[in-house]
Amino acid sequence: MIDLHTQHERCGHATGSLRDYVTAAMDKGVRVLGLSDHTPMFAAEEDHALPRVAMPKSEFPAYISEALALKEEFAGAIEILVSTEADFLPGRTEPYARELSRYPLDYVIGSVHMFEGKDIFDVTRWEAVTEDELPAVKARFFRSVAECARTGLFHVMGHVDALKGNFPRLAAVPAPAAADEMLVAIRDSGAVLEINTSGSTKMCGGWYPEPELLERAHHFGVPITFASDAHVPERVCDQYPEVVKVLDGIGFRGWTVFRRGEARTVPFA
Ligand SMILES: [Zn+2]
Ligand SMILES: [Zn+2]
Repeated sequence: MIDLHTQHERCGHATGSLRDYVTAAMDKGVRVLGLSDHTPMFAAEEDHALPRVAMPKSEFPAYISEALALKEEFAGAIEILVSTEADFLPGRTEPYARELSRYPLDYVIGSVHMFEGKDIFDVTRWEAVTEDELPAVKARFFRSVAECARTGLFHVMGHVDALKGNFPRLAAVPAPAAADEMLVAIRDSGAVLEINTSGSTKMCGGWYPEPELLERAHHFGVPITFASDAHVPERVCDQYPEVVKVLDGIGFRGWTVFRRGEARTVPFA
């Protein structure tokens, strides 16, 4: 088993230490674990711009040092990959590129968390949106993820249809052209798509992305990886067997993992 997307307590909205996630992963028999806590708000002036969203900028070196120390301590027992989940903020990627280049990261996850001025899970967004507008909103979200991929800064594209997280109805809204454009952008950027099971912690349930989008991803030859997006240690590799079963049915045969930016494919079993 592999899991390339986990958080921990430094972000202010997850629980457990990095060691707790490593221990939980080893207990479940995980072979490759990515530590990928939320990147500090590098584009902000303040050191700790959003205390319940991400760690202070000044804490990032300690996070990386602790992750690297765990990687060494547990080498042989479990492969630990050192990563971070960065926000994609259009037009404000430069501070991220500069700061992230200073660390020996195995990979970086790029995620759209802020979309058109609001957090993706903020339900107040939908108060001003009519039924007719839903396909266009969904298409714009996919285009934002495509733009994120095209920056070339990221190895993994995080939860690519998470706008449905607290608005489940969006899952069934069609936006096929924008979805295909996004998948091709991800493939052409050299990044991979994560299958993220944390939809189970939101109103939408299920996974990001929908199985239908996974079929399109397979059609376009987009590589994939597994992401629990665990914010509690117990969720490491959550629903892994179910995901493998669905992916295998679609025709996928393995995961992509990254070591110091180099992609490597590992078979499901
Ligand atoms: Zn989080
Ligand atoms: Zn995220």
